[in-house]
Amino acid sequence: MSIHIQIQNIENSRIDSVDFNNLSFGKVFSDHMFVCDYINGSWQNPTIEPYGPITLSPSAKIFHYGQSVFEGMKAYKDADENVFLFRPDENWKRLNISSSRLMIPEVPEDIFMEGLKKLLEVDKAWIPTSDGSSLYIRPFIFASGEGFHASPADNYRLIIATAPSGAYFAGKVRVAIEEKYARAANGGVGFAKAGGNYAAQFYPTQLAIEKGYHQVIWTDDNTHEYIEEAGAMNVFIRINDTLITSPTNDRILDGVTRKSVIQIAQDQGISVEVRKISVSEVIEAAKNGSLKEIFGAGTAAVISPIATFGYQGTDYDLPELTESFAATLKRQITDIQTNKTHDPYGWRVQV
Ligand SMILES: *Cc1c(COP(=O)(O)O)cnc(C)c1O
Repeated sequence: MSIHIQIQNIENSRIDSVDFNNLSFGKVFSDHMFVCDYINGSWQNPTIEPYGPITLSPSAKIFHYGQSVFEGMKAYKDADENVFLFRPDENWKRLNISSSRLMIPEVPEDIFMEGLKKLLEVDKAWIPTSDGSSLYIRPFIFASGEGFHASPADNYRLIIATAPSGAYFAGKVRVAIEEKYARAANGGVGFAKAGGNYAAQFYPTQLAIEKGYHQVIWTDDNTHEYIEEAGAMNVFIRINDTLITSPTNDRILDGVTRKSVIQIAQDQGISVEVRKISVSEVIEAAKNGSLKEIFGAGTAAVISPIATFGYQGTDYDLPELTESFAATLKRQITDIQTNKTHDPYGWRVQV
């Protein structure tokens, strides 16, 4: 090991208070967290310590200027208690892409990877094994440095916390295609997993919830004519037997699940088109019966089929398919993640 991590173990584990057969998403937290501070221009020696409250100055810039970025990953345990991550290098790279945009210092690969792996060793017992569950991993960095001046902070903190989790969505997902608000703009920070992007989505999402939907499908900020992505998922649309997804740009998060789905689908002969797709094309396909599926793809929900979408006051129901692309692709990707099948891509990383 090239970096030294000081480990302070919890005195009394909370694990016996957790019902691993009834896990919700991201609500209970494992015993430990990984912490690494960036002070005076360099990352300090990291620690693994009991998960718990932290102390910050009221003038810490995270509170005033929202300098914060995060990642979302999962750890899986197979029947033989082996622990796996899925494409963790992608998350490390993206964390730094997000950080750069927010003027947050980049994290060296060894601190991120070794910290993550050590944390999973320490809290291995928290990785659930029941079907559809996993240990959700939340690495995040925020401005801990002080000051009311609107400029980047001097000091930052990286924390990795984990939460044994079950399914993200339960039941049939209803989405509203957004006609007024936007989650991101050209030249903005939509491609970054920056905390503020999500805060800005809550209000329009709440308006959709009040109308009976779960989520918003965002459209482009300029014309609202093109489908972009969902709250924390990229979106795929199946017309006849072709899978269509929007190209990534500076308004769209470059999802690891998205690129994995594209690769797996192509490799089994599904035609995939990465191109702009307009709302009117989707409505037209819904009307003439060629619209077969819409699903979201993201680490938290994996693949989440949409049952209904609403647009301009009309609800459109998707057909219920017995052998959907969503179900097949979800099985294939989770079988790779959980070591139930051969991984021809080298995506699965044993810890
Ligand atoms: C995290 C996220 C995704 C999905 O990315 P994954 O790497 O697949 O988890 C998609 N869209 C947004 C806005 C996100 O925050």
